[in-house]
Amino acid sequence: MRYIEPHAHMVSRVTDDYTRMRLAGCEAVCEPAFWAGFDRNSAEGFYDYFCQLTEHEPKRAAKFGLPHFSWLCINSKEAENTALAAEVVALLPRFIDKPNVLGIGEIGLNKNTRNELKVLEMQIDFAARHNQLILVHTPHLEDKLKGTRLILDALKQHPRIQPGHVIIDHVEEHTIRLVLDAGMWAGMTLYPESKCTPARAIDMVETCGVDRVWLNSACDWGVSDPLAVPKTALEMQRRTHSAEMIDRFIYQNPLKFLSQSPHFRLPGISKL
Ligand SMILES: [Zn+2]
Repeated sequence: MRYIEPHAHMVSRVTDDYTRMRLAGCEAVCEPAFWAGFDRNSAEGFYDYFCQLTEHEPKRAAKFGLPHFSWLCINSKEAENTALAAEVVALLPRFIDKPNVLGIGEIGLNKNTRNELKVLEMQIDFAARHNQLILVHTPHLEDKLKGTRLILDALKQHPRIQPGHVIIDHVEEHTIRLVLDAGMWAGMTLYPESKCTPARAIDMVETCGVDRVWLNSACDWGVSDPLAVPKTALEMQRRTHSAEMIDRFIYQNPLKFLSQSPHFRLPGISKL
């Protein structure tokens, strides 16, 4: 089995996780910028985090044979302070051309507030002006449907956003169609306690098809499983999905989307 983990917060994980992912067939790991579990107090805190994502973590991952890529932004949980958000966005040009940076993410909404939306629009505009891919976090539970609609509207209203350059993550049964119908990519997140289980993710693929979808663990500092993607692949085998179908879902699809960034290069693999 081979797979790409397109969404993992490795700065929160131990080195054993890297080893286990590599043993399970992981060929690359991508890390969106996110909330640290506490609010940062200054733009300098984000500066250090961006250095960690673009300089230190790739070196740590390389020790375990894994290419590491990152996405940069201020996340929606810290977007209530719009002045701080503007300072953080002003830092992005210093990092965006680093060799492992894939684009802007995970931007999005958390509680669907006016300020979150303002900061989301600010970062969509930054991505459009810098021709960057976008990775979007959608809200949890009862806020998800409304938040997904607001996010899709904000993206569609921007004249320079190409739908194929956007992945909307943490989709569920009631939001996946909206995303795919908008021409964007949809990410399914496997969490032990919320978001999506392996069975639900496979049900969605069986219902909506395997085009423009990917699977991720979004493992972080909370209850999460860095091996959720290969475990779901085993469940797909049990349900008698073909090896080709599984490979498409967990390897070829992320490879195709991510290869739209000139920075996404895997050893021995030419661009699709
Ligand atoms: Zn995340």
